[in-house]
Amino acid sequence: MTLVIDCHGHYTTAPEAHNQWREAQKAAFKAGVAPPPYPEISDEEIRHTIDANQLRLIRERGADITIFSPRASAMAHHVGDEAVSIEWARRCNDLIARVVGLYPDVFTGVCMLPQSPGADLKGSIAELERCVGMGFVGCNLNPDPGGGHFDHPALTDRYWYPLYEKMVELDVPAMIHVSGSCNPAMHATGAFYIAADTVAFMQLIEGDLFADFPTLRFIIPHGGGAVPYHWGRYRGLADMLKKPALDGHVMKNVFFDTCVYHQPGIDLLAEVIDTGNILFGSEMVGAVRGIDPQTGQYFDDTKRYIDALAMDADRKHAIFEGNARRVFPRLDAQLKARGR
Ligand SMILES: [Zn+2]
Repeated sequence: MTLVIDCHGHYTTAPEAHNQWREAQKAAFKAGVAPPPYPEISDEEIRHTIDANQLRLIRERGADITIFSPRASAMAHHVGDEAVSIEWARRCNDLIARVVGLYPDVFTGVCMLPQSPGADLKGSIAELERCVGMGFVGCNLNPDPGGGHFDHPALTDRYWYPLYEKMVELDVPAMIHVSGSCNPAMHATGAFYIAADTVAFMQLIEGDLFADFPTLRFIIPHGGGAVPYHWGRYRGLADMLKKPALDGHVMKNVFFDTCVYHQPGIDLLAEVIDTGNILFGSEMVGAVRGIDPQTGQYFDDTKRYIDALAMDADRKHAIFEGNARRVFPRLDAQLKARGR
């Protein structure tokens, strides 16, 4: 019996009052005044947004647990200043904690961090500690909090080290995940996300981060961006740059999800990348919500593609459950405590 753990879900259907408060917060920042008080949101309202969306699809598609985080495109770290980000992150993470509290057998929390261009990572570290204290099992780390300018230090830069030290101490992984694009020439989910995934992987090749942090773990979402398709390029670049082979240099610490929305893409991922580095994910309800006219199925019904892979049950178990338990040890402990 395999638990199907979806490592990549966002609360894209959060109550409208939450989204309206964010708009008011942004307007208040522009006007130089304090934001209005955060609205009361009832459990009923939260249930309403989950039951009809994520929970319905989880049940229909046969997943068991979703690792759930705030809507990524709305993190918008480039908006306002650090204080704005800190308050927004707390509101978003508190809402995730409430969802987990209402559905403890279905959801577990991953937090967004209150990053801000020009800020150090003290606020992010404090929020990560607060959220892990509430039972969260990981975080989403934005490698480009400027929102599409790619002017932040590489992920291997010492700028990030205080956060990595805290992640190692707490034994939580990060999903590398950008947010909205403020560059109109770069579509958020179609261009910015996939570009950032690919950029992050190349940064890890060029640096030597995991020599300093041998237990640090990153998930690169959206199937690893362009990386699996161009695997020969990255192996070849590692060789040209006099770096060790990728299996020891990067792939002990980096994992790709299965948010690749067609069968040939999943087939390639499974053929090129070691099974131990693949985590089941769907990112639903998310970037691509429609039905594929070629198959008649939802693009983001990614379990279907794994089920169709020509691989044995042990490897599928690793993708659906085993790898997620390894990458998210706090989730593993929660499941064991519940006899799962
Ligand atoms: Zn996402």
